[in-house]
Amino acid sequence: MQEPYFLLPTFQEKIWGGNRLKTEFNYDIPSDHTGECWAISAHPHGLSTIMNGQYRGWTLDKLYKQHRELFGNATTDKFPLLVKILDANDDLSVQVHPDNEYAQKYEKELGKTECWYVLKADPGAEMIYGHNAKNKNELQQLVLTKQWYRLLRHVPVQAGDFLYVPSGTIHAIGKGIMVIEIQQSSDSTYRLYDFDRIDPNTGQLRELHLKHALTVTNVPHVDHKLTMIEKQVGNAIVTTLLEGPYFKVDHCQINDYGTSVFNQDEMTYTLVSVIDGKGKLAVNKQDFLLHKGQHFILPSNVRQWKIEGNLECIVTQPNNKL
Ligand code: ZN
Repeated sequence: MQEPYFLLPTFQEKIWGGNRLKTEFNYDIPSDHTGECWAISAHPHGLSTIMNGQYRGWTLDKLYKQHRELFGNATTDKFPLLVKILDANDDLSVQVHPDNEYAQKYEKELGKTECWYVLKADPGAEMIYGHNAKNKNELQQLVLTKQWYRLLRHVPVQAGDFLYVPSGTIHAIGKGIMVIEIQQSSDSTYRLYDFDRIDPNTGQLRELHLKHALTVTNVPHVDHKLTMIEKQVGNAIVTTLLEGPYFKVDHCQINDYGTSVFNQDEMTYTLVSVIDGKGKLAVNKQDFLLHKGQHFILPSNVRQWKIEGNLECIVTQPNNKL
């Protein structure tokens, strides 16, 4: 059966979360401190469930385990990608993620390289991205003496910006920012600094992981040069934001209710998140209405699909060289 799989997200409440996953995306969130929508996930900390078709009610994890042919016969043991939408009503902790090798050794899971497409940013909002230390000694000293302003780099952002955050990059999403995050399927985070906040649930400071964080941080920080390539596909403007070692991410703008035809080969599969507007997806003569906030997978047996409407999507494919 050639069909897309629409996914039911799960939500995570966070000290820094807000209510914009409801007000902007109309999700049914658990509280006004909801930080994360895990939109496309086979990670055990927040499994997505398929909402339609032949595999309705299955978790993505189960589908990946039992029907690898729908995922380009991928040889990796776990579904490699995770797509989230984050609402930072307050600053996230300053953190860093391990690479595959380190995460395998200490966390028994994948490393975490991630990237963000900024959906919304309040005026003056900024990310923490990278640091100014020239060597490990200086890094350690600035951290231990809490000279955050000297150490951390602050980057102003606005809607439509894209940031690539390879494992080993110090970062924090700042207050007033919503992003869609594409990452490796991993939940390994090492906190370097949490603004000395008290967690209301425990009455304690949240745990830091300085030893791991200092070990995995890349020194010196290197900014990755991104070359964004734009092409026209039917009525769509497709901009490749990143072609990285783990995933390829496109921004796709479909205009004026024209139809755009997309193709893929049997070696890959495609994840789509509708971030604005509405329209229609046609797969194998079946139509599916699309609106902001939906997420779906086009498995390997869907070689061609059509999208029409007035909408904006983030489209991800795994890097099938790995
Ligand atoms: Zn992160």
